[in-house]
Amino acid sequence: MAKPLPEHAELHFIETLATTTVHIEARVPVWATPDEPAETIAMGDGTGRFLAAIFGTPTIVRCGQRTFPHVPDRSKARHAFTSRFRDEQLCVACYRTLTPEDQPRAFEHEQPELESAL
Ligand SMILES: [Zn+2]
Repeated sequence: MAKPLPEHAELHFIETLATTTVHIEARVPVWATPDEPAETIAMGDGTGRFLAAIFGTPTIVRCGQRTFPHVPDRSKARHAFTSRFRDEQLCVACYRTLTPEDQPRAFEHEQPELESAL
């Protein structure tokens, strides 16, 4: 089932705040996808479509979950980008979508301070 990540793909980590599970998003930078058809929405067209497009568009993580890490009000956010978490927080389903060659990249993140010693 695992497919190699596209060339130039970057991994982003999105934490589900309620469960602290960290999902993986693989994103190919815009500069690496010149042929990607994309709808361009003007930022200042006054309709709010630009913000709605950003905040209302789910970010689909590797395991297929829809996450919303772009919600502007952090108190209402259910997901958040993170770069610091424990390895065991990684979503197993997301991890399994990676090939053995790509799997080490899932561990390229910072570790939180040790707090369990308290
Ligand atoms: Zn996942």
